[in-house]
Amino acid sequence: RLEVDHITCRFDGREVVRDVSFAVRPGEILCLLGPSGCGKSTSLRVIAGIERQSSGLVRADGAPLSDARMHLPPEARGVGLIFQDFALFPHLTVGQNVAFGLRGPRAAMAARVAELLERVDLGGYADKSPHMLSGGEQQRVALARALAPRPRIMLMDEPFSGLDNRLRDGIRDETLQLLKDEGTAVVLVTHEPEEAMRMADQIALMRDGKIVQKGAPYNIYNAPCDKAAAAFFSDIN
Ligand code: ATP
Ligand code: MG
Repeated sequence: RLEVDHITCRFDGREVVRDVSFAVRPGEILCLLGPSGCGKSTSLRVIAGIERQSSGLVRADGAPLSDARMHLPPEARGVGLIFQDFALFPHLTVGQNVAFGLRGPRAAMAARVAELLERVDLGGYADKSPHMLSGGEQQRVALARALAPRPRIMLMDEPFSGLDNRLRDGIRDETLQLLKDEGTAVVLVTHEPEEAMRMADQIALMRDGKIVQKGAPYNIYNAPCDKAAAAFFSDIN
């Protein structure tokens, strides 16, 4: 369970994230939805520990990851990340990239890598080098790599935006279902209302660094908090 409690993040005196709070249970997907520049990625970076909040705290399963006194480094948080600008290790094969965060017996690791590559539709790619893959294929490898160690919390920043429509729906639905099945608490950043409506258990609608409305997709869609929120959803049919 992930708890984000009154997080504020300031750059040069400007509040980019303002008093953001939410909680995500295991197996649940919360979508941070909002226009460009509203503070979605910054919120994720604070949860990941890449950025430090000015105030507020982040907890995982009741234990603090960061607050006024302490700040766990990203690698100690048990949090998986998939960012907009994913990057594979160019000198490792696809399989070695996916296995990167894994520990344990060789056979078990190999089985996990094979299973994940199948999941993202890249069975048989394990021995290829990343530079032989298309951008969308590389993105799917990055997805498999983030999933591999079974993090209890997964932060995803528009992870499906570079994939073409035909691939996207399948990979997206499968990936999120896999995370749900494994009991992962997921924060999914998107600026597309359709994606949030389709995938989220909860939507947190952001504007100017703040959450302006939070709730089940159906409720937000049917009762947007103001005109701007209504306009944001009005393109969906
Ligand atoms: P997008 O949908 O375009 O990715 P976003 O909602 O993810 O947008 P953020 O990347 O969180 O937005 O940025 C929010 C605001 O904070 C922007 O105005 C950005 O310029 C500013 N910002 C982000 N990181 C920093 C930083 N390290 N220093 C100063 N300003 C920053
Ligand atoms: Mg962003």
